[in-house]
Amino acid sequence: MSQVKELKLKCSKCGEEFDIDIYETVNITTDPELKKRVLTKDIFKVNCPKCGELHRINYPVIYADEEKKILVSLVTKQSKLDDLKDLDNIKKINYLSEYCCRLVVDMHEFIEKVLVLDAGLNDKAIEVMKVIVLSSGDFDRKNLRNCYFGGVYEDKLRFDVVMRDGTIRVANVGMDSYEKCYEANRKEFDENPQEWRFVNFDWALDFMAKQLKIDKK
Ligand SMILES: [Zn+2]
Repeated sequence: MSQVKELKLKCSKCGEEFDIDIYETVNITTDPELKKRVLTKDIFKVNCPKCGELHRINYPVIYADEEKKILVSLVTKQSKLDDLKDLDNIKKINYLSEYCCRLVVDMHEFIEKVLVLDAGLNDKAIEVMKVIVLSSGDFDRKNLRNCYFGGVYEDKLRFDVVMRDGTIRVANVGMDSYEKCYEANRKEFDENPQEWRFVNFDWALDFMAKQLKIDKK
């Protein structure tokens, strides 16, 4: 079951205070219609009832897919990993076994993680591919803001590279490169489930630095 909770919001434009419903848990197995609302970021959007201003709210929410055994938890940047394990809403779901459990810090990472895991891809391999894309492409590093997995199209992985000026450049990587990367690192990439963790760009940089050290020995 998806869980909803009420929250008070103050419009930053007109000052109106109003109640909104936000999701604590989005369970797409029991509520499949919510999947589309997640992927379009619709669950994070709310309009002020007085002036109509559109607000995007980054709030803690857990995405659960019981069939594919995916849990993605959006947590705030201030949270520490140890505190998160004690969060009530995480405890509630932790009894489920064999899940791939991921933590993310904003709605963009949240959608991306859902896209990756829903497509049956290994997110560690995807993060490593991102580092490779950004270091081999002709990207001006100083001007980079973010890079997100955008989906699989015609046997290619699409990455959206967001620049500091707001422009987005698309980089495509062949599925064969991804599969090679995954096969070569399977031991490290396959893991014990039920472990809440961040797997992001920083994770990939750490992983690659460790691999370099091993290779040098
Ligand atoms: Zn307003």
